[in-house]
Amino acid sequence: MYVESVKVVKFGGTSLADAGQFKKVKDIILADESRRYVVPSAPGKRFPDDEKITDLLYSCYDAATKGQDIEPIFSKITERFDGIIAGLGLDMSLEHEYETIKYALLHKAGRDYAASRGEYLSALILSNYLGYDFIDAAEVIFFNDNGTFDSERTNEVLGERLSKHKTAVIPGFYGSMPNDTIKTFPRGGSDITGAIIARAVQADLYENWTDVSGFLMADPRIVKNPRVIDIITYRELRELSYMGATVLHEESIFPVRFAGIPINIRNTNDPAAEGTMIVPQTTSRSEYIITGIAGKKGFSVITIEKDMMNSELGFGRRVLEVLEKNAVSFEHLPSGIDTMCVVVATSALEKCRETIVNGICSVTEPESVYIEDGLALIAVVGRGMIRKKGTAARILTAIANRGINVRMIDQGSSELNIIIGIEDSDFEEAMRAIYTEFCE
Ligand code: ASP
Repeated sequence: MYVESVKVVKFGGTSLADAGQFKKVKDIILADESRRYVVPSAPGKRFPDDEKITDLLYSCYDAATKGQDIEPIFSKITERFDGIIAGLGLDMSLEHEYETIKYALLHKAGRDYAASRGEYLSALILSNYLGYDFIDAAEVIFFNDNGTFDSERTNEVLGERLSKHKTAVIPGFYGSMPNDTIKTFPRGGSDITGAIIARAVQADLYENWTDVSGFLMADPRIVKNPRVIDIITYRELRELSYMGATVLHEESIFPVRFAGIPINIRNTNDPAAEGTMIVPQTTSRSEYIITGIAGKKGFSVITIEKDMMNSELGFGRRVLEVLEKNAVSFEHLPSGIDTMCVVVATSALEKCRETIVNGICSVTEPESVYIEDGLALIAVVGRGMIRKKGTAARILTAIANRGINVRMIDQGSSELNIIIGIEDSDFEEAMRAIYTEFCE
């Protein structure tokens, strides 16, 4: 039996910033007939100082709630959309929609409603331009009363509804509450809508079209022209995103990961580039051993010293309980026989530094407890490191050769990552040293 393949394609704000970008999007969609379900963002920035439609909508909402005239901002929004319609030569008008939105804004429609209209209007134009059906996300994406996403109901209704449409455009970013008001996902949430739709139609692939040619091996603000990762597993991606590397909204990973659907990050401005494939698992090895590097500054180390600590049952638990009571989560626990170190984000200690030191003193009666700030962590991630000899040695040598002191090393037993702790001021240099060692 021949089973037709289905791709869900999501286009970000820069991919739909003006009529020229809409044309690229249409060419991409029509180049592959399995690209059947399309999720657009609201038009984003056309140039660095430009304004995103979503930001303009939030400003409109703010102006309306303060009783100010919304016209100057609202007209910027309608001009953008009208410019796109004219540039595409479409025979359509959004006048009626504008009136409805303006009326709602002036009559206390919610903030989420206001923000969601960017995706709504963008999807109306795109569906007209493509000749695809339009399905309002409010009818198929649902939230619970407490504001959490209602995945079961959504999956059921969405799957059923889309089975009746060969092709459709569904606006990203929002859905509806049980009382029929509009609610949005967090900023960047159209990625989440795309993933939810991919899961509901059991897509073969979720393509996420953006303005970069994939997930980069390192932060381009630190490493010059880093290579694009061709294949990455969900687990590796999670490690790198946790350390700050992102192209996709974090929450968009779960629906597709759960369903075992791969994601392909692609570039609307360079459709020939294959981008990055994010897959549940793969036997393919990266040619560089490591898959990527990411890191963050701003960590602190709490060091507790006590003779014979290792023979004291429950020592670690008591320390961690103090952190838990202060709502501080820990990142790593590199420890010696008579020392225990806890790495935490410095920002988490802001209001409870002293309480934590005092709390640890009273439950462990140590020789000393002190907190040192200014630690940066770098995660070197790669499925290729498993049972590969010498990777840690190469990382440490590369860093040492630049005269950088390593303050902490942590390797998970999964051998998927090695975490290096260095001084904040050595962060960029260490990132470059590791990248150069493996990738150049
Ligand atoms: N337009 C929304 C935002 O700017 C959602 C998105 O683009 O994914 O955050």
